[in-house]
Order: sequence, then C-alpha cells, then structure tokens
Amino acid sequence: MPLASPPPKAGDAWTGYRRRVETLVAQYRAIPPGEPVRLAKRTSNLFRPRSRAAAGLDVSGFDGVLAVDPGARTADVAAMTTYEQLVDATLPHGLMPLVVPELKTITLGGAITGLGIESSSWRNGMPHESVLEIEVLTGDGRVVTARPEGEHRDLYFGFPNSYGTLGYALRARIELESVAPWVRLRHVAFGRVSALAEALVAVCADGAYEGEGVDFVDGVWWGPEECTLTLGSWQADPPPVVHSYGAKAVYYHSVRARSEDAVTVRDYLWRWDADWFWCSRAFGVQRPGVRRLVPARWLRSEVYGRVLGWEQRFGGKAALDRLLGQPEREAVVQDVEVPVAHLEVFLERLRGEVGIAPVWICPLRVRDAGRRWSLYDLDPSTLWVNLGIWSSCPRRPGTDPYHHNRWIEAEVDRLGGRKSLYSTAFYDEERFWALYGGPEYRRLRSAYDPDGRLLDLYQKCVLRR
Ligand SMILES: Cc1cc2nc3c(=O)[nH]c(=O)nc-3n(C[C@H](O)[C@H](O)[C@H](O)COP(=O)(O)OP(=O)(O)OC[C@H]3O[C@@H](n4cnc5c(N)ncnc54)[C@H](O)[C@@H]3O)c2cc1C
Repeated sequence: MPLASPPPKAGDAWTGYRRRVETLVAQYRAIPPGEPVRLAKRTSNLFRPRSRAAAGLDVSGFDGVLAVDPGARTADVAAMTTYEQLVDATLPHGLMPLVVPELKTITLGGAITGLGIESSSWRNGMPHESVLEIEVLTGDGRVVTARPEGEHRDLYFGFPNSYGTLGYALRARIELESVAPWVRLRHVAFGRVSALAEALVAVCADGAYEGEGVDFVDGVWWGPEECTLTLGSWQADPPPVVHSYGAKAVYYHSVRARSEDAVTVRDYLWRWDADWFWCSRAFGVQRPGVRRLVPARWLRSEVYGRVLGWEQRFGGKAALDRLLGQPEREAVVQDVEVPVAHLEVFLERLRGEVGIAPVWICPLRVRDAGRRWSLYDLDPSTLWVNLGIWSSCPRRPGTDPYHHNRWIEAEVDRLGGRKSLYSTAFYDEERFWALYGGPEYRRLRSAYDPDGRLLDLYQKCVLRR
C-alpha cells in the first residue's frame, strides 16, 4: 500500500495511527464498486437530510491528537478529532488552533472539508487556511499527503468545500497560536446595522477599537433598531471579575445585558455551544427554573442536534402544532457570506421576507491574498460578513416547503455572496458549478476519483443523495 509521506514516526500514537490507516484502506477497497460510501462518524453537524443508505466507513479510531509541537506551534491531528478534544490537547501548551468553530463536536476534518468560521476569522480566515498538510484517503483508494506545494497541491487547494467528495481527510498538520488565560469582552451596542458595519470595517482594518487592541470580533443583529458588536482581547492579568456561561448562565443574554465582561479562554471558545447560540430557546432550557434542573452535560449543541434529528425523522412537534391549529413551520438554517457593503441591505430584506432574528454576524477575510481556494474562492480584497440564520418561520400557504431558504440563496447570489453547503441548497447545476469552481472540480474528480466511487458535490449538496 502506498503510504503517504511523511514516513511513519516513532511513538505509539503514530504507530497506532498508521495501523488504522492500513485497516481503513483495506475496508474501503473491500466495498464493492458501485456501492455508495459514507463516513460512519459518531457526531455530525450536517443539516441537510440524506436520502439513501450507504456503506459506513468505520473511522472510530481517527480521533486524537498525535502530537503537539509547542516550539513550531503546530499539531498533528487525526481528522475525526472534535474541536473539543483538540482544544483540550492544545490549551495545556498555551496554544489553540487559529480558528475554533463554536460547536464542540465539529471535527477538524469536517471543518476543513465543510468550512468553518469564528471570531478570529477576520485575521485568520477559515480553518483550512491554517492547515500545513492534509493526509487524504482519495476516492480511488490511495492515501496521499496534500501540501501547498508539490504533487498534490491541487488537492490541497481543492479539498475545502469538497464535503468528502474527493476523499476523506485522515490527518492534518495545523498551525497553532498562543493564548492568554482570559479574554476581555466589550459588547458595543449600535442602533442601525450601518453603524455596526462602519465600526466593523475600522476594527478589522486597525485591529483595535478606541485605542485598545482587538483579537476577536463577532456580533448579533437583534432586529432593525438594535445590534451588538463583541470585541474580544487577550488578557494576561487576572480580571477583577470573571463570568462563566453554560451551566450557570446563558451567554447571549449577557451580550445585551453587559457592556464589559471577562471570561476564561476555554469559556470564550465554547461560549456559544451550551445554548447552540440561542437555538436552545426552543427546548425551554433558558428558563432559569428549567435550567437548574437540567444536568450540565446536556447543555451541549450535540444534544440539541440529536433531538432535532429525531424531530426531522418522526415529526412529533409538527404533529403537535397541527393538532393545536398552529401554522406549519419551515426550518431555516443557513450560513452565508456577503460583502460588508451589502450587510445592511441583506438584513433589511431578510427582515421583510423571512422575519428571523437574531442573526449572528462574523467578519471574515482571506488570510493570505496570494492563495485561491478552488471550490470556495472569496475575493481577498473584500471584508466578508458571515451571517448565521438559524431558526424557523411560518410556512406560506401555497408556496413550496423551502420557500424562505430558496429566497436567502437567491438573494445572497444577487448580492455577490457565497453560501455554505452544509444545509439545504437549490441551485441549478449551471449556477452551482459557476459558483463552486466547476472546471477545477471536474479535473480533481478525474485525478482522485476517476471511477466516481464517491458522490459528486452537486449530487451530495443539492440533490441530497
Ligand atoms: C446549525 C449549524 C450551525 C453551524 N454553525 C457553524 C458555526 O457557527 N461555525 C462553523 O465554523 N461552522 C458551523 N457550521 C458548519 C460546520 O462547521 C460544517 O457543517 C462542518 O462540515 C461540520 O463538521 P462535522 O465534523 O460535524 O462534519 P459532519 O457534519 O459529520 O459532515 C459534514 C460533511 O463533511 C464531510 N466530512 C466530515 N468529515 C470529513 C473528513 N474527515 N474528510 C472528508 N469529508 C468529511 C461529510 O461527509 C459531510 O459531507 C454549522 C452547521 C450547522 C448545522
């Protein structure tokens, strides 16, 4: 079997890893041609339903950090490692990945192939932009190491946004950055979002706000007359008061209630997970009386995701709504990027057409303007704003069940934006390939999966096969 470079290293973790790679390759090759394949992962943050069963590739051994090199500030990580595991392994070294997605069970491989974003993305881009090399089990059953240069550089630049349709990431070497023990937060309130957008542009250009350095930036649009920008700064000295969110309190309530705050680095990284941003509202756990009774281990995005999965399968809540004469609802779960210049117009129109709030705001800039990511090519000269729209709205009688999701997709396209593909997508094929690097993708497929063992990106993300 052609083992990928670098050659196996000494140490139990690496030896065990190499053995698991060999077993996985054998497992993959044993699946009969023509039979669909999927990753049998313990967790998932995928929102679009799949329509067919497929042979599950057992990747249970591929979670764990193989090595952290504090001198080089890098980590070698098995790709099914969740960010929760990854952060637990790096924080003791005073280090963290350059971008840590908000949900604890997102895996490194999932974030590289399916994109991710967080409040450090205005300076560090997306998770794939701090990957130094990635080891991939390709669709044609090889294991190759893709780097920014060399034989598989095409795969390195084409893997992000490929959603496991070119191959599966098994390990990645990623960059890390230093942390301080605390993060000081400033929640700056604005009226209209145009004022927030102006501040966003200035903060991301200067790396400072009112003379103080800024390391993290995100925000919330609460509605047409209110929005908040949260600016985080590393703090080495113990702050006078440190708050903790999750079991005890709901982070997003604090964004409106406090203008200043301080949290530990770990609490900062997971500030959104315990309430799935604000989506835990639907489960009643934000009511103090209920929250006191719920075990802290249940306050996790993973738990809400599972409950939602059951609802999608069995429709209990929908049946109850029907019984109570409530209108049917359309789940609207979309992450989109728009240029900052269009932030206000998009949110205005979203309010009129869809009526969902709050919306999460997170600035994003391409980290290295000299690099172009073939399947998710963002203009490096633009400051992008990711908008997280996660809720539901009443269905309009007589319209199709995805009316509002379709509207968001079309509007984002009209404004020159991009949309993540983890949720429902509706593009016609021509538009889809124009947006997501069609010609290069076709070339990559013929190089790494010539027999089409894996679904292609359109089949997977739009046709939901
Ligand atoms: C409600 C919701 C909110 C979200 N919010 C955020 C957010 O705030 N910030 C953020 O960064 N992201 C967010 N995401 C997106 C998330 O980062 C991506 O969906 C990511 O791909 C999920 O990673 P996962 O490990 O859970 O992968 P999964 O959900 O298990 O899989 C996602 C896709 O990636 C493929 N895949 C998974 N692992 C690998 C691998 N090792 N190699 C190749 N392909 C693989 C799978 O086949 C699948 O097609 C959100 C998603 C949802 C549903």
